[in-house]
Amino acid sequence: MKLYNSLTRNRDEFVTHTPGRCTMYTCGPTVYHFAHIGNLRSYIMEDVLEKYLRYTGLDVTRCMNITDVGHLSSDADTGEDKMLKGARREHKTVMEIARFYTDAFFADCEKLGIKVPDIVVPATSYIPEFIRLIETLLEKGYAYLSGGNVYFDTSKLDDYYVFGNQEAEDLAVGVREGVEEDGAKRNKTDFVLWFTKSKFEDQELKWESPWGVGYPGWHIECSAIALKNLGEYLDLHCGGIDNAFPHHTNEIAQSESAIGHRWCSHWFHVLHLNTASGKMSKSSGEFLTVSLLEEKGYAPLVYRLFCLQSHYRKSLVFSWEGMDSTKTAYQKLVARIAALDPADVSPVDEGAFAELKKRFTDAMDNDLNTSLAVTALYDVLKARTNDRTKLALIADFDRVLSLGLIAEADRARAAAQASKAAEAEAVFTVICADPSADDALRADVEALIRERAGAKKAKDFAKADAIRDQLSGMGIVLKDGKNTVEWTRS
Ligand code: AMP
Ligand code: ZN
Repeated sequence: MKLYNSLTRNRDEFVTHTPGRCTMYTCGPTVYHFAHIGNLRSYIMEDVLEKYLRYTGLDVTRCMNITDVGHLSSDADTGEDKMLKGARREHKTVMEIARFYTDAFFADCEKLGIKVPDIVVPATSYIPEFIRLIETLLEKGYAYLSGGNVYFDTSKLDDYYVFGNQEAEDLAVGVREGVEEDGAKRNKTDFVLWFTKSKFEDQELKWESPWGVGYPGWHIECSAIALKNLGEYLDLHCGGIDNAFPHHTNEIAQSESAIGHRWCSHWFHVLHLNTASGKMSKSSGEFLTVSLLEEKGYAPLVYRLFCLQSHYRKSLVFSWEGMDSTKTAYQKLVARIAALDPADVSPVDEGAFAELKKRFTDAMDNDLNTSLAVTALYDVLKARTNDRTKLALIADFDRVLSLGLIAEADRARAAAQASKAAEAEAVFTVICADPSADDALRADVEALIRERAGAKKAKDFAKADAIRDQLSGMGIVLKDGKNTVEWTRS
């Protein structure tokens, strides 16, 4: 598989350190608010990548952190802890906020068909590991104590700006937002590994450390969690493009300084989802959530399809019009699959299966071209082969795409059958709207109306029309409704 690698700025062949196995790390959410659908774009694309790697036969172990401490309001170590801000906003404790938004995040993931990573680690559960890694960095001379904090010394590295030359405008966000100079730093790009001094004395969560009571910097968590769970040779590291700098650059600095060799060989970055008016921001509180999409009548999987229809390395502009057309496309796709016969017992057409599957894998092998992979679904529907083969292919592709296609089609088929049955069973009612009609007339007219209805059902329209004429001759006027006929005298 060819996959763009931010490290080499090339579409590299994806090769793992140990053949057949893949270690994959994902930067998890900062749980001080709901995830916005921009964050979730990154997690959807990472989920597709993970599932495709599994689909190709790799034994993937995926680990993700949950940032519940240390992420300051600027990625460049300034400002207040985001968790504390969240807690204050909602008059709760930091841990209550963390628990609530972690659960909310996984609930959103489930709705979007995103699999939970094999290993999920909240940062607050790994404080001893962070301390050990910081001690190693101090021992090896890559870190220093200054003004009560421990800093990473970026001047000790030859190639600190690993992702520095990327063209994506998003890249510099971390350092642009709210830059404040920290006089204790030796170099501008140095970053905090452990805080004991900050302007915000009311930091709620603090731990003992060899350098005093304090809390970890944001970057150290991913290095420590990844090294502990996935070892010294990481095959794949993922995140949104804003994470590339400074967060991932700093992760590389810490991890490689500690282990003394190349850490991660392949970096996967998802470009941002933006709105027409610009970026979505959790901290400003102006953002779209999965719940909002649902309230507006869009199934979460429609948003997943919206994301899959564009390439992960292109910025994606969200629009309600785009969601509308994706919703229509999704419904049509499901309807076409529902029209296939699940009871078809023909043998799977091996030739057609292989050819159509190749279209799907060619698309995915080409730097995860999910929009072409979705097109491969339409190719299956158009193909000249039996329904059994088509359904087998769709189920196969959906192991990766996770659009719930087979289940949705089954539901659509069952609903159609149920409504047909309901129609067949519906009680046919004759309503007399003439209060002066006597019982004999009522009985005669009702019998004729019922006979006419029977003729219509049997598609004997000549007979139905003849009965209508007969009734009309008797001065009876009919008003047809759904399962009702109302009559009166003219
Ligand atoms: P956070 O919860 O802020 O730590 O971010 C969680 C993930 O979402 C990270 O991988 C970010 O890089 C990513 N992310 C943030 N904003 C966007 C966006 N607008 N579009 C896509 N991914 C994003
Ligand atoms: Zn990270």
